[in-house]
Amino acid sequence: MTAWEENVRKVTPYTPGEQPNGAGVIKLNTNENPYPPAPAVLRALQEVGADSLRKYPDPSASPLVEALAGYYGLPKDQVFVGVGSDDVLAMSFLTFFNGGKPILFPDITYSFYDVWAGLYRIPYECQPLDEDFNIRTADYCRDCGGIVIPNPNAPTGVEKPLAELEEIIQANPGVIVIIDEAYIDFGGESARSLLPKYDNLLVVQTFSKSRSLAGIRIGYAFGNKRLIRYLNDVKYSFNSYTMSAAALAVGTAAIKEDGYYKETLHKVVRTRERVKKELSKLGFLFRDSQSNFIFAAHPKCPAKELFEALKKENIYVRYFSKARIDNYLRISIGTDQEMDVLIRFLEGYLGKRD
Ligand code: PMP
Repeated sequence: MTAWEENVRKVTPYTPGEQPNGAGVIKLNTNENPYPPAPAVLRALQEVGADSLRKYPDPSASPLVEALAGYYGLPKDQVFVGVGSDDVLAMSFLTFFNGGKPILFPDITYSFYDVWAGLYRIPYECQPLDEDFNIRTADYCRDCGGIVIPNPNAPTGVEKPLAELEEIIQANPGVIVIIDEAYIDFGGESARSLLPKYDNLLVVQTFSKSRSLAGIRIGYAFGNKRLIRYLNDVKYSFNSYTMSAAALAVGTAAIKEDGYYKETLHKVVRTRERVKKELSKLGFLFRDSQSNFIFAAHPKCPAKELFEALKKENIYVRYFSKARIDNYLRISIGTDQEMDVLIRFLEGYLGKRD
């Protein structure tokens, strides 16, 4: 190792899902929404003129913060926005997890948490899910440096009842508890309703999944105003202009077109419920998912084999070669037609294998 290399901050980066291009690809591997964003979003994008691109965007992102505050019925000093919830979560780790004690999160969960902990040198301890992939409340009611829990969890899709999350938040008044609600809109109950009761709670959400806007990068957090002020202090110490003019325009427009959003959400949920039945008929096993994906295993066919067979057909799902979950596929919910192609292929493949 050369002398300068010894001073490099060495990290093991997060591996995002593949982004294959090309016609005929059925992409069910990164939990994107299969439907386009609201028509108002496209109009807003067209209206972002040269002048707003020439200038720096509003550093306080106020149109978007105000729109979110209005929509969710919170004061605007309780809202923080960032470049996708990845950015919001990374800022939150940096801001709140400085206690020196290990932070806690599940062993099977969003695989960015240990990456941020590694990047910022935050000690952490993973708490094992039980054998049915449930997060055990008792594991999180103990001395620690902070907590991050996704609800529903990823990649399992399992929702933890709000009352159990409240027990965890209540048991940890001395540290920040982050609830990552990337998938909450697809059926879960948000911890937002607990905000008036707990000043150690931060709820993080995103426009990437339920609002079909993964490409523009909009995430946000709700918390008490002191928490949000601390987050903004860190943000302004890092990059004043995290939200581009285009993201501000698009995000604000998306919130206004509520009917379209709800209709799309309903379509994804309806397809998910149908796909659950079809997968069960084919013998797949999975916990009930309240998200826009299903995490399924087949008792007779290894997940890796299915993953590769699907890929040959240009159907991309997500496979994690990690202990306990290396026999599962995470299948995002696409359109009805896409899911029909998937189901027909699985039916034929498993049939031939019998
Ligand atoms: N949290 C969880 C649990 C996720 O699965 C994702 C998506 N990869 C994110 C946060 C980040 O999503 P985004 O940055 O697109 O908002």
